[in-house]
Amino acid sequence: MKVFKFGGASVQQTEKIQNVANIIRSYSDQPILIVVSAMGKTTNALEKVAEAFFEGRQDEALKLFELIKQTHINTAKYLLVTHFNALMDELANFFTEVEWLLHDKPVREYDYYYDQIVCVGELLSTAIVSAYLNESGIPTQWVDVRDIFRTDDNFRDAAIDWNFTSQRVQEDIILLFQETNIVLTQGFIGSTDENESTTLGREGSDYSAAVFANLLNAESQTIWKDVEGVMNADPKQFPDAQFIAELNYEEVIEMAYYGAQVIHPKTIKPLQNKGIPLFVKCFLDKNLPGTVIHNKKVHGLPPIIVIKKEQALLTLHSRDFSFVGEKPVADLYQLLSDIKIKPNIIQTGAVSIQVCLDDKPEKIQKLALDASEFFEVQVEKGLTLLTVRHYQEEQLQKLTNGHRIKLKQQSPETVQVLMQPA
Ligand code: ASP
Ligand code: MG
Repeated sequence: MKVFKFGGASVQQTEKIQNVANIIRSYSDQPILIVVSAMGKTTNALEKVAEAFFEGRQDEALKLFELIKQTHINTAKYLLVTHFNALMDELANFFTEVEWLLHDKPVREYDYYYDQIVCVGELLSTAIVSAYLNESGIPTQWVDVRDIFRTDDNFRDAAIDWNFTSQRVQEDIILLFQETNIVLTQGFIGSTDENESTTLGREGSDYSAAVFANLLNAESQTIWKDVEGVMNADPKQFPDAQFIAELNYEEVIEMAYYGAQVIHPKTIKPLQNKGIPLFVKCFLDKNLPGTVIHNKKVHGLPPIIVIKKEQALLTLHSRDFSFVGEKPVADLYQLLSDIKIKPNIIQTGAVSIQVCLDDKPEKIQKLALDASEFFEVQVEKGLTLLTVRHYQEEQLQKLTNGHRIKLKQQSPETVQVLMQPA
């Protein structure tokens, strides 16, 4: 058994979906559980629908949703002939689910509505891809993953109930593989015990696929992307970024933690626990070897560079200029946890604590306000956080050249520099 995950870019246009079908066909003599993301930027578009709805702009929400509907219907029209009508019935059900909700007035919290609306992106894309595979002679079973992935009701960041989910996988998914080699489903979404839809956090499909791989004891997981494999830096920012053929789990956990947009950070653990290798391969050319991520020690890695823009730096001075003791530090961590924001760097000094965070404006504002109860608070924005693993001094000099350095943290493996373009 293999697990494949195809991201939004791989099913963005009709030719891309045809390409995905070709890849699947070439592996279809063996059982594969396939997770497919929402098409292209659909999730972003659905977020706009949820925002408009929640802010009382109902007409706008319906209009925005209509655009998403039309894109999917058009894609289906291009791709399908014999399976078109049956697919349209399925799509219509998903459309109605959302439109029904949009005609109401919001009475619950935003995150709940977000999940009810945004989850439809993966349902639509997988229904279309599944119909296309079946029409192309690749027998495929489509599954609504909300019947399989049970989660808590922490909407937008729901946690999986492993016991329940494991049982559904053992019973329902295994049964489907007795009928066909290809089982296709959604990532990123799940459902509570009250049948409310949930999402697992943006870009969560990699993680869903890893949960399947773990529970199915898969021989491997493959994430199909539009790049050759994992690179040592973002090729859009660094045109001479290098391809990395082999990595170990720990390195990827570190990279994801520091913000490398390679793989969703939660993906590795379920694979590592069972020693399942993860391949990152290029859907534009399936014959390229791609990157393998596994348990083996890898030597001689190039420096790995991660750049995070739009950082905020909060400097908190204790009011009486006494030493910053354990109490203020505890208060700060409590605030961060209440606001649900993860610090990228914390540095404590004699009379101040500095915290670097992603600049999510409402959260930063709330944090600054709440912290001002205990501290004198200063906020600086527009900063860039550079992280380099396996750094070399000379290269670090080049990367920070012409910037004003605000904060620096360094360990033998990793250096982080918070800086401001001069
Ligand atoms: N469609 C979701 C997102 O864009 C989940 C995913 O693609 O992993 O965040
Ligand atoms: Mg994606």
